[in-house]
Amino acid sequence: MPMPILPFCRRLVSPVAVMLMVGLPSTTHAEVELDYEAPAIAPESSSTVTEKPGWENEDFAVAAANPLATDAGYQVIKAGGSAIDAAVAVQMVLTLVEPQSSGIGGGAFLMHFDGEDVRAYDGRETAPSGVDGELFLDEEGEPLDFMAAVASGRSIGVPGTLRMLELAHRDHGQLPWEVLFEPAITLAEDGFEVSERLHTSLAEVEHLRDDSIGGDFYYDEAGEPLAEGHTLKNPALAAILREIAKEGSSALHTGSIAEDLVFRVQNHDRPGAMSLEDLASHAAQERDPLCTEWQAYRVCGFPPPSSGHLTIMQILGMLEALPALESPLNDDLPSVEWLHRFLEASRLAFADRDKYIADPEFVDAPGGDWSNMLHPDYLAKRAEQIGEQSMGSDAAKPGNPGPMETSWAVQPEQPEAGTSHISIIDEEGNAIAMTTSIEQAFGSRTMADGGTGEPGGYLLNNELTDFSFQPEDEAGNPIANRVEPGKRPRSSMSPTLVFDADSGELVASLGSPGGAAIIHYTAKTLVAMLDWGLDAQEALNLPHAITLGGPVFLEAGGYPAATLEALKSLGHEASERELVSGLQALQVTEGGSIFGGADPRREGVVLGD
Ligand code: GLU
Repeated sequence: MPMPILPFCRRLVSPVAVMLMVGLPSTTHAEVELDYEAPAIAPESSSTVTEKPGWENEDFAVAAANPLATDAGYQVIKAGGSAIDAAVAVQMVLTLVEPQSSGIGGGAFLMHFDGEDVRAYDGRETAPSGVDGELFLDEEGEPLDFMAAVASGRSIGVPGTLRMLELAHRDHGQLPWEVLFEPAITLAEDGFEVSERLHTSLAEVEHLRDDSIGGDFYYDEAGEPLAEGHTLKNPALAAILREIAKEGSSALHTGSIAEDLVFRVQNHDRPGAMSLEDLASHAAQERDPLCTEWQAYRVCGFPPPSSGHLTIMQILGMLEALPALESPLNDDLPSVEWLHRFLEASRLAFADRDKYIADPEFVDAPGGDWSNMLHPDYLAKRAEQIGEQSMGSDAAKPGNPGPMETSWAVQPEQPEAGTSHISIIDEEGNAIAMTTSIEQAFGSRTMADGGTGEPGGYLLNNELTDFSFQPEDEAGNPIANRVEPGKRPRSSMSPTLVFDADSGELVASLGSPGGAAIIHYTAKTLVAMLDWGLDAQEALNLPHAITLGGPVFLEAGGYPAATLEALKSLGHEASERELVSGLQALQVTEGGSIFGGADPRREGVVLGD
């Protein structure tokens, strides 16, 4: 099926052109103008599977989950912006057009490559100072109902996305901060067409209708969601973004917008504890990335508090430790033999993840170094447990990658969902991989209007439900990922940059939403692109298979019935279900061009020149 949004109708004379020449006082970026023009494009007609062509570009490429957001990044780079400049513009537009997935009310992880160094910027939400391990327990000490906890003030973490983008922009931005907000402000003021995915998400989500702001903004009086194609303006968000454009992240973290945010949390029917001090004191962190040699590559990903890179590389490391398979692919799909190994390795990797990984300010790495979990000898030993038959549901036990002072209990499984991924390579060869989240679709279902009193606003995250609801197991052993004040909840987000191990040249940027299944989606895409030689689009098109240690799920309609039956006969408790990833991947080809793929399961596109 041809892409309905192509070709992009481009840049005649812009009726909404803006000329802004003011940088933030804290920046030294060149004066510049951005003649942003809202593109004459309709969002894709379907968020069900839509065939994507894959896009080849010579100089730069922007990949994001919504065409309007991708286009904003494209225009920023055309105006002389860097990858991080484009990422700021993309994120602001996503706040408006993909409010279900990410935004200024959430958190994010950003991997950045400046041609020499790789850095990891951490904008994860933090727990307010007034909470403790009982945050998600009821009066009897039992875990709260999950959705009741999500749709509450308790789940709302102190947002960090803006602080993180500001920090990375100070280090790597080319254009003034202020101009990067023009695409989102223009679209918020002039309106944008509600996409099919936004419409469907509004129709399906629970509790947003109950929110005093979100209910009025996104639904009519009969409770019907905004129709696909409806032109939606968001004056409250436009006003908030204008302040942030002028003042920087402090406009969200202090002052009247912050007061409104805290008011929304504290005055929720089920209030949370966030204070103005919590909001003012959130600081993004620059971390050393984790970089792991794998085959001919150096794969760089996010360290804890994300479990992404460690768990992905445990899976890939265990697969490497097994004798090579004759045919990992069968009729262009992952073979039963490969799937079996991948799923068994996933069981073992998730067992380690659930025991050891949490915010590194609060827990020590096994043996004092996270890379102990990736040591080839350790993974080879773990891989010995992968046999002909499945070890079965919940049979995988954590290993012992290094001595620990605390005897951690294993965290029970909890749902995770609702996120977006951005990959960008600019003309200078800077690259970013950024995964950004408000956790569930529409986060805590709590909308804030910045105290503007105008319609609209932005969604507040429910990221704190990524903490373990139980602080300890029945024997009283603590769970590493329990709630503690000031702590960042463990994440699965896996923004990944890949380099050639010998030359150090950039090979790929990728990542995905999908809760804990982000790990499987990203791991399989790495194997498909770099081991099996598929291009980025072919790799993203492959059907998914996941397990967190218990049942196995194959993507509905993705594999032949015989594959499901074969996995069952190997002892997997297997069934089909929807597995909605939102992968974006950019791959530098041997010829030096950038080949980009966007997940056929969502509305993303790649744009570049
Ligand atoms: N909140 C999840 C995390 O940080 C991501 C949710 C999702 O991708 O859907 O791991």
